[in-house]
Amino acid sequence: MSTPRAVPFYCPFCGEQDIRPSDDAGWTCESCARTFDLQVLRIGGER
Ligand SMILES: [Zn+2]
Repeated sequence: MSTPRAVPFYCPFCGEQDIRPSDDAGWTCESCARTFDLQVLRIGGER
């Protein structure tokens, strides 16, 4: 069916791809001006 992606580069609210990394945390969509967080699994064994 669909290909599993680790990091979805689109807004979960409006579906636009016009997002940029927020300075504080998460991502900010420039289309709907929403800030959201992506649940990113930690890669690597650094504590
Ligand atoms: Zn959006």
